[in-house]
Amino acid sequence: MAGLYIHIPFCRQKCHYCNFFSLASRKNQQQIIVSLLQEMELQKSFAGGEALKTIYFGGGTPSLFQPEIIEKLIEKAIGIFGIENNAEITLEANPDDINHFWLSELRKTRVNRLSLGIQSFFDEDLTWLYRAHNATEAINAVKLAQDNGFHNLSIDLIYGIPTLNDERWNENITKAIALEVPHISAYALTVEPGTALDLFIRKGKYQAVDDEKAARQFTILMDRLTENKFIHYEISNFCTEGNYSRHNTSYWSGEKYLGIGPSAHSYNGIARQWNVSNVGEYIKSIGAGIIPAEKEILTKIQRFNEYIMTSLRTVWGTDLEKIEAIFGKEFHDHTLSEINPSIVGKLALIENHKIILTNAGKLFADRVASDMFIEDITVG
Ligand code: SF4
Repeated sequence: MAGLYIHIPFCRQKCHYCNFFSLASRKNQQQIIVSLLQEMELQKSFAGGEALKTIYFGGGTPSLFQPEIIEKLIEKAIGIFGIENNAEITLEANPDDINHFWLSELRKTRVNRLSLGIQSFFDEDLTWLYRAHNATEAINAVKLAQDNGFHNLSIDLIYGIPTLNDERWNENITKAIALEVPHISAYALTVEPGTALDLFIRKGKYQAVDDEKAARQFTILMDRLTENKFIHYEISNFCTEGNYSRHNTSYWSGEKYLGIGPSAHSYNGIARQWNVSNVGEYIKSIGAGIIPAEKEILTKIQRFNEYIMTSLRTVWGTDLEKIEAIFGKEFHDHTLSEINPSIVGKLALIENHKIILTNAGKLFADRVASDMFIEDITVG
């Protein structure tokens, strides 16, 4: 099996822009650990005997857990599913949790990759986003992680923040390059319905997000990182040679993955499944031996649309030969004809039977992809 995702649904505080499932209370922490271990037992047959290639602790904030708990979860996963040699085991961590003792303990576990939620190296942006850390902690987190032997590091950055002008965005990129992290994930600030940010903007308390500025900062990002030997291997992800995220890449290449924990998603090649986004209900249901999940069997058209959406975002592109082999000639011909306007408009090109976005096209990736979608009249 490609990967196991373990969702830790707790955070110190709720960042204003966040729409991930997480709670700013750790009330049920002990029960969640028990439930995660139990859910792995319940999901035993999911992988059909295939060993794990990757494990990813996401959230929420997995760094709120002590390393011994993380190792206990890894050990259980290995005992149940098995694991390949040199598997990638990533843990998301926030700078405010990072200290020498915690990192030295984490080094004793099998975690071999850290993903740090830096977002910005400036206090103004971090305060605006309502992050729990400050700029000094952001820099220190990277250095401390490296000092403790975590060189397989990724950092998250956000652009398009109203407090972040182009000059400071350039400085954020310069700092990230200078820190020699091999992987950077950078996201445009999006205002998700129901978040505090959405409410504040609607009430006029916060300035709205400027899409033109976000597009400009994305272009600055692409130019600066590619000039500095980073490979732009997915719309929001850049890495130095060989340091791409194996876990996330498996999502984009349509491999099987299992998600454990409240709100976690799974995909087995045929169906998508997602656990309930409620900690109390999750714990109760798992305790009763029932996985609290909804399931959707994907139609051929849905699988095709999903392949277009995910593959087009990557440097490897949308493979026309693969489309013909998996979905048939009709789907291949449809794709070829629908991509034509984007090729004429220089948003995409075809190379070795693969549709690849140009830098201009990366600004409109979702639109270029949706132009190739097929409407599925069988789903309501
Ligand atoms: S730390 Fe991450 S998961 Fe937690 S509230 Fe902030 S953005 Fe959301």
